[in-house]
This record gives sequence, structure tokens and C-alpha cells, in this order.
Amino acid sequence: MFAKRFSELHPYVPGEQPKDRAYIKLNANENPYPPSPEVNRAIAEFNADDFRLYPDPDALELRKSIAAMLGGGITSEMVFCGNGSDEVLSFVFFTFFDDDEPLYFPSHTYSFYPVYAGYYGIPYKKIPLHPDFSIDTDAMLEGKSCALIFPNPNAPTGMYMPLAEVRSVLDRYPKDRVVVVDEAYIDFGGESAVSLLSEYGNLAIIRTFSKSFCFAGARLGYVVANPPLINAIFTTKNSFNHFPVDVLTQKIGIASCNDWRYYRKINGTIAETRDSFSQTLRNAGWEVLPSLANFVFARKAGISGKKTYEEIKKSGILVRYFDIPGITDFVRISIGKGEDMKRLASIMNAI
Ligand code: PMP
Repeated sequence: MFAKRFSELHPYVPGEQPKDRAYIKLNANENPYPPSPEVNRAIAEFNADDFRLYPDPDALELRKSIAAMLGGGITSEMVFCGNGSDEVLSFVFFTFFDDDEPLYFPSHTYSFYPVYAGYYGIPYKKIPLHPDFSIDTDAMLEGKSCALIFPNPNAPTGMYMPLAEVRSVLDRYPKDRVVVVDEAYIDFGGESAVSLLSEYGNLAIIRTFSKSFCFAGARLGYVVANPPLINAIFTTKNSFNHFPVDVLTQKIGIASCNDWRYYRKINGTIAETRDSFSQTLRNAGWEVLPSLANFVFARKAGISGKKTYEEIKKSGILVRYFDIPGITDFVRISIGKGEDMKRLASIMNAI
């Protein structure tokens, strides 16, 4: 009854959503603040009659809004939108990663990458991080790979690779193979690689509205790259699902882009909360990796990540731990509102 390929699947496991009580959710890197008031306005103005018709399959107005928001010479022909960046990643894996050479990604990174590689039959190689948990770019460039993919900042470490280092990777990598930089968390303090697109035709940047634009439940992600790459992704999309972004999400996406200043403000607040929370934890004897994301990765000698997670959960707060050798002593903590982080810090102080 089941296809042979089905038995080979190893599905991704997202942060838990328990229903036994109310929790403060700091386990899925969601934004603690609401989307822009312009989103509410766009929803109020939306007429359900518009659901009768299929949406624009190519989300042109939304792509124009994203391009205008990014500025710096980015045009709508350089943007592709999908149903969350996970879907966009799926199209990117299908389009650019071949099976003759392995795909390289860091040993500790977004755990969906090996899942998609398995799904598409793409061989891969996990490149060990430096002892300080930063990405080893020299090792990423050794030997032969079909392509590179890494998040910047990386997940689950939160560690940021300076733009000069991203540029150096691009300079040293073959120009006929794609380098994918997943910028899911770039808006919390890092500098985007979008400015490098005018120089590198093999660069593809993945972005999402889920984190910095408070849209995890709306599902909107995009790729920014030069037109030949974007056109190829459209071909893949049109071979899978013609209409990945629904009509309402296109509208509220546009409303969000028009009010990008709102998001810059709340994300600045999240970055401040992250830095003061990190400092508080360090003062209490925790090791906290330097993060430019909306989460931190922390550990304390003598206690496992699982145990830390359990202790915190007893107090009604969810964080995440990973049963993965090399990072079992860490917990990943999404940054919530200031008051939630103060409460969590006092719980963690007592551990
Ligand atoms: N990339 C990275 C690095 C992530 O952590 C996530 C969130 N799980 C995603 C992509 C996917 O985000 P979404 O599908 O919500 O856009």
C-alpha cells in the first residue's frame, strides 16, 4: 500500500504545543508581539467574496512590496514567495541541489535540512562547527559539494556570521553552484546578504515572515536571488502547487511590508530583551552563546538540557532542548516579552 520512498522518511519535529495547561511559549522562536495594526486593518477590509477566486499564482503585488521594502536595487523579478520558508526551502532543495556531490551544511543547524535532503535523495555532509560553535567556513569549502546551505544567524546557536565572512565564502566557492543563506533570524541584529546579490549570481537568500514579522500562523516566506534562479524556482513551484500563497496572506503581507518601521521597532525591543536576558543568565553562572537571533542557546555545567527544560516547564514556561550529541546540555530559549524573560531568569537562577 505504501510507496517504498515513504518508509525512508524521517519527518521534522517542531516545538511542542501541549494543551494540558496555559504555557508561556518560548520554544518555537515565535514573536511575542502582534503584527502591525495595518494587518488588522487589511483583514477588516477584506471581503470573503474574494475567496471565490484563485489568488495571483505569482503573488506579483506582494513581491513588488517585498522588493520595495528591501530596497537597494532589488526588483520583484528577484523575489519568489511561498507558503512559509519551509516550503520555499523545499523548492530550493529540489531546484539547486543535485545528487552527484553532497550538500554541505553545518553539523548543528536547522534540523529540516537533513529531512529535505532525505526527501529528495540528496546526499549531504554535516560540517563540524568550531569549538566555540561558530560555523567553520574553511571546512565548508573543502572538497566537492553540490551546494552550501547555512542559516545566518545559525540555529539553534543564534550565532551570526559577519557579512565579510559570507562574502569570503562566496568568493571562494564555484560560481556554478548555489550558496543558500537562510536569513530566518536576520532582522534581530545581523546585516543581510541582500546587498551582495548584485555581485553574486549564485547566491540565494531565504527569508520568512514567521519570526520578525509575527506571521508564524499565516505562513509566508520568500527567496531573494537574481532572476535566473528565481525563474527556476517558479518552474519548480508550478510543477508542484500553482497557488502557494492564498489571497488573504498576500494582502496582509503587503500591509506588513508597508509598515516595516513597526517591525523594526518591535524587533529592536526583542534584541534589547535578548541582550539583557543573556547578561542576567551569565551573571547567574550560565553559559550563553552570543546571539543575534530572537533566541539564545544556554547551558550550565552539571545539568542536561532535558533536565533544564523539565525544571522550567514545571513553572509553566516551554523552552526547547535537543537530543542531539554535542548539544544535549543546551536549551534554546526564544525571546518573549520583557516580563516573561524576567520570570524565566528568576526560575533559571534557582536551578
Ligand atoms: N529556517 C530556519 C533557520 C528556521 O529556524 C525556521 C523556523 N523553524 C524556518 C526556516 C522555517 O520557517 P517558516 O516555515 O515558518 O517560514
